[in-house]
Formats: sequence, C-alpha cells, structure tokens
Amino acid sequence: ATPTSIMAGSGRAAELGVLFKGGEHLERTQAVDTVVLDKTGTVTNGLPMLTDLHVADGWDRQEVAVWILAAEKASEHPLAEAIAQGLTDAGDVRRIEPETFAALPGYGVEATAEGRRVLVGTRLLMSERGVDVAGATARMERLEAEGKTAMLVAVDGTYAAIVAVADTIKPTSRAAVERLKKEGLRVVMLTGDNERTARAVASEAGIDEIVAQVLPEGKAEQIRKLQAEGRKVAMVGDGINDAPALATADIGMAVGTGTDAAIAAADVTLMRGDLNGVVDAISLSRRTMRNIR
Ligand code: ADP
Ligand code: MG
Repeated sequence: ATPTSIMAGSGRAAELGVLFKGGEHLERTQAVDTVVLDKTGTVTNGLPMLTDLHVADGWDRQEVAVWILAAEKASEHPLAEAIAQGLTDAGDVRRIEPETFAALPGYGVEATAEGRRVLVGTRLLMSERGVDVAGATARMERLEAEGKTAMLVAVDGTYAAIVAVADTIKPTSRAAVERLKKEGLRVVMLTGDNERTARAVASEAGIDEIVAQVLPEGKAEQIRKLQAEGRKVAMVGDGINDAPALATADIGMAVGTGTDAAIAAADVTLMRGDLNGVVDAISLSRRTMRNIR
C-alpha cells in the first residue's frame, strides 16, 4: 500500500463525507464482509413520536398519564423524551416531580409518583417484577407488528397501560441496504427493541437478518460472535450504547449526527448521517486497495 494512494483515497472519501481517522482504517475497511447496523438513529431517524396511550380497564386515563409523565420526564432516553413530549403536547397532563427515579438501561424506568410505584418498559422488566401483563399481549403484538415500540406500564405492581412510539426509517436506508447487498455484504440489524418491532422495521429497510432484544452490554458480544465465525465486521451506530460494539468491530462507523461517545469509539465518521456513507466507505476502500496491488 503506497502512502500516496491511501492519502488520495482518504481525500476522495472525505469529499463524500466519510472521515477515516487514519489511513490504516481505510486499508482495513477493504476486508469487511459483514455490516452490522444499529436500528434506532442509524437505520431509523431516531426521533420517535408517541402514537398510542391505551389505559387498561379500571384505571383513570388522566391519572395514569400524570404518573407516566412523572417517570419519563426524568429520563434522557429518546423513548422517554418521545413519551414526555407527546403527553405534554396532549395538553392537560399535570407535571409533577417523582419522589424517586431510576433508569434501567435496556429495560425501562422505575419511579415513585404521588406514592405510586410506576414502572414503564419491556415485558422482561414486568416479568422480573412479577407483573401479570397477559391482558396486554394482543394489543402489544398488534402495535409491534406495525413497527412501533410498545411499552408496558405498571402501577403498584398491576398492569395499567400501554404506551407506543413510532420511529420512521431514513429515506435513504432502503436503497443503501440494497447497495450493500449488491456489493456482496452480509447485512445484520442489531437492536435492544423487541423481535416483532425489529422485524417490521428491518423489512421496511430490506434487511433480512436481525438480532433483537440485545441488552446494552450485549451489542459488543454480538460483534465478537460474528468475528468468531470468521467474519470481518463493520459496526454502524450512533448511541452511547453502541460505543463498545463500535470499538470491538473490525471497523467502527459512527453516524455523524450521533453521540460524541459513538464518534470517539469509531474509526470512521459518516458526516452525511445516512447509510450511503457505509457503502461509499467500503467500495472506496476496495477500489483504493485494488489499485495499489
Ligand atoms: P435501542 O437499542 O433500540 O435504543 P434500548 O436498549 O435503549 O433500545 O432499550 C430497549 C428497550 O427497553 C426499549 O425498546 C424499551 O422497550 C425499553 N426502554 C428503554 N428505556 C426506556 C424508557 N425510558 N421508558 C420506557 N421503556 C424503555
Ligand atoms: Mg441508536
């Protein structure tokens, strides 16, 4: 590899908004055969919006909304922001301070509000806390089949509501995934979200392979698993959650609109913030390395 051709390749990449941290990363990208994409903020816009608040029989809609807002407004998670924003926009939901609050990464949130124990999050969270959510199953599945992220709400240990948010895929994602496949790359989507929602989003983006319900600390492990199969892996992500996986992958690619933690952990930054940068990075690396042999 001549330094001159690598510099030229890096320059061309930069013109396409693909910033390699160093020439060695441009060289290494050539060997990539598998691309792992984070879902939220990478395949999707990462701006979820509240779409549904279903309150279970016997609960007061206003009261439940107040408790959910109290629990979620203390969280910085994008899902929490979507829920808090949606409830606030709805107008007449009182804002109160929770007495206690804890974020449970990968699961949801837990708070006390007006003396009520409020849990918002996944099925797994509910089952770990012994909350019976059988009455919510059909509605949860329906929402998830629409590609929405549906979360369960329990108050004092009893199922009280479902909140759902929807995110949209980036307009460029589907065509970029198509380009990746044409280059012969294996494409996998990785998410902490549930299987059914992940499947619906993946199918919209043309992605066939998914790994869902991955806990924050499990993303890097999924990368290592692929590497153990002999794959050369590029990981593409935007979140703090993605940083360990970005560092573990053979090449980490951060979406330029993502968090500082993701950008710091990655080898490449995609300034245009969409998946076309992934294809450009790989094909440019391949062309550059081919020219110098
Ligand atoms: P992702 O990888 O899609 O960003 P996370 O690992 O952050 O997802 O979260 C996984 C799941 O945990 C979410 O899909 C949601 O069901 C639940 N969850 C996480 N944070 C919250 C929250 N603040 N409120 C409610 N549910 C949450
Ligand atoms: Mg993300």
